[in-house]
Amino acid sequence: MKYQEARNYINGQFVSCNNKRIDVESPLTGEVISTVPLSTYNDVDDAVKAAKNAFLAWSGMTLKMRSQILYTYRQIVEENVENLAAIIHVENGKTMDEAIAEVRKSIELTEFACSIPQIAVGEVLEVSVGVECRSEYAPLGVVACINPFNFPHMVPHWTVPNALALGNCVVLKPSELTPLTAMKMAEMLKLAGLPDGVFNIVNGAKDVVEAICDHPEIKAVSFVGSTPVAQIVYRRATSNLKRCLALGGAKNHLIVLPDANLDLSASDIAASMCGSAGQRCMAASVMIAVGNVNPVIEKLCAEVSKFIPGTKMPPIISRQSRENLINYINEAEKKGAKLLVDGRKFTNDSTADANGYYLGPTIIDWRGSNAKMPESEVFGPVFEIISAKSVEDAISIQHESPFGNATSAFTQNGAIAKMVAQNASAGMIGINIGVPVPREPFSFGGWNASKFGAGDITGKSSLGFWSQFKKVTSKWAKQEITDWMS
Ligand code: NAD
Repeated sequence: MKYQEARNYINGQFVSCNNKRIDVESPLTGEVISTVPLSTYNDVDDAVKAAKNAFLAWSGMTLKMRSQILYTYRQIVEENVENLAAIIHVENGKTMDEAIAEVRKSIELTEFACSIPQIAVGEVLEVSVGVECRSEYAPLGVVACINPFNFPHMVPHWTVPNALALGNCVVLKPSELTPLTAMKMAEMLKLAGLPDGVFNIVNGAKDVVEAICDHPEIKAVSFVGSTPVAQIVYRRATSNLKRCLALGGAKNHLIVLPDANLDLSASDIAASMCGSAGQRCMAASVMIAVGNVNPVIEKLCAEVSKFIPGTKMPPIISRQSRENLINYINEAEKKGAKLLVDGRKFTNDSTADANGYYLGPTIIDWRGSNAKMPESEVFGPVFEIISAKSVEDAISIQHESPFGNATSAFTQNGAIAKMVAQNASAGMIGINIGVPVPREPFSFGGWNASKFGAGDITGKSSLGFWSQFKKVTSKWAKQEITDWMS
């Protein structure tokens, strides 16, 4: 890809700034493909001013008019799926197939936003004779969305289309590792007819996030990223009296029973742990083997060995993250865990550049070790196996995890599946599914240290986050027909 400078987008224009810049490397080759500005409070303030100026006219449009712009935008994205995927592929490293799937998911999310006029209809009731109460969805004003590197197109589409449909103006802060995809989003929204100032981008790192949390004109902040940063953002934004929804990291457990369908379970778990090289908050992380599930494990090892780094499996986002993963595997081995599949020893396929940050799939079996599996998130193609004596035991092991994004059960027994669904301490449950992402209109969101704040980030649940109710009580009645409550 040709070198392209990442720029902020304020009031409908890409703007240059004199801030210090940092390199953006493609994980496919290690090459510098861009530089990104480390913006400051002043840049956030410029974006907020533009958003505030645009708010009156944007929020004054009807919900149906706003959703028409999102329909047009959806069509433009549809016509550019491959172009967008090519950018994601280079800056994030995802395979082209994964990048195309990501953009398709963004289209589905935009379609949900287009449908908001069918959902956000408010309520009306004659509460006493001649007196009517109505409640309607009102926007908040200027809101901000802070994003991680792993879904540079889809995660902004979790929030931005819904926030816009409901009449808010947005400041987006992409990951400094993947700033280029968001620039295309800005171009396409403008092409769709979005008025200048309604959508803005401020690039950078910690300083921009802190400025967003501190800026008095920003009313709500959504965050998606790791748990330590989610906690920082949630604390800082709410202490500044903003509403905040901060999604954090994960370590997802799969409770596997001996009656699980052998072929389907093995291929599903392999796809879950290896997709995007495990850099998904919904990736399969830990198998809790209940009883003897060795046939599933053997089949799983065979399945993951097909994910040769290169065309089948993407690289890790950065040299540092790859090193962290290798250190984790080395440590596990030192503690006596057995490596059933060792990603450090994989040979990449011929499409993989020798300088890319590749690592093969790895399966760590802790069952024979005296050491306990660490509770920390690993975030790579690393899958761990532990054991439980019973389903009850498996559920209590899952409860010990600080996280609560997803838990799945692999079994043919409906009663056991139901028991896991009812008792696991996680926001998203899979039954014979390795990546149990709820599709719209259902909402996405974990529990515990995987999410801070009320409600979920997508689907119907998100409407409450991006809006506030206005209640209007009115009396248009002749005096003689009203009663003591009127
Ligand atoms: P990250 O937490 O490092 O970064 C996320 C954002 O926070 C970025 O925009 C970054 O610039 C900013 N940031 C980083 N450090 C900061 C600090 N000290 N103070 C203020 N801001 C800071 O996350 P990442 O590495 O980009 O993404 C991977 C993480 O995101 C994983 O933990 C993954 O599980 C999580 N994630 C969670 C979900 C979910 O739905 N729960 C979805 C996607 C990713």
